[in-house]
Amino acid sequence: MSTMQDLKSEIRNCGRCPLADSRNRAVPGEGDLSARLFLVGQAPGVDEDEEGRVFVGRSGKILGELLDGPGLSREEIYLTNLIKCFLPGYRRPKRGEIDACSKYLDREIEIVAPEFLIPLGYYPARYILHKYGINVPEDKSEIFNRLWYSRGQKIFPLGHPAILVYDKEARDEMVENYDKLRVLSSNCKWYEVCPMRRFNERGVLDDRWIETYCKGDWESCQRYQMEENGDPHPDYILPDGSLSERLRGHS
Ligand code: SF4
Repeated sequence: MSTMQDLKSEIRNCGRCPLADSRNRAVPGEGDLSARLFLVGQAPGVDEDEEGRVFVGRSGKILGELLDGPGLSREEIYLTNLIKCFLPGYRRPKRGEIDACSKYLDREIEIVAPEFLIPLGYYPARYILHKYGINVPEDKSEIFNRLWYSRGQKIFPLGHPAILVYDKEARDEMVENYDKLRVLSSNCKWYEVCPMRRFNERGVLDDRWIETYCKGDWESCQRYQMEENGDPHPDYILPDGSLSERLRGHS
């Protein structure tokens, strides 16, 4: 496996596709190499192309504001793009460009091995869902703001911050959607003492429940909500609120 330093240098000198002729600088990702959250934008903008750093222009400023909501800083996440070079006129990436450039993203993912991949916008989301064997819904609205889990990887696609450059009305909804990163940035506070952990360790509860609730979107767990409200509940109620006869037998 290459080191991140080797990979960055390879990206900066890349000539794999014709975008190398029109860019000023290819832009590798940056951030915490052991980050839990790994955010993937589409491609660098003009400012990023000038400076050679990810999310330093208008979109970067907006992303910083959106990360303030869940209390996250750039230093504690990893930030990169699907395409490492500026797309002239902010056009869509072409198939050949994605094929050539996504190899770098694959290697960044391999090095950081994050708990969550957070693609921002349609093209990164489509690439990442496909990479993990998920059929991408034709209705784009079904892709975003939900937790996907496949081949051991958790994926939570969000809208790209650049949307707010053109559509200020979308801000409240976007702020609300990005707030989910607060939940995803830690495990459920009840996990250590939760019967679901015990059942999973005894091999009678599938990992999917743990990954998607206890170590994923715990705020939507019915058990979590009942704990918070002080509502009594049996050990064999599952995170989605259904009762498990199998767990009942092991209680
Ligand atoms: S089952 Fe629910 S309450 Fe228990 S640790 Fe998982 S998310 Fe938290």
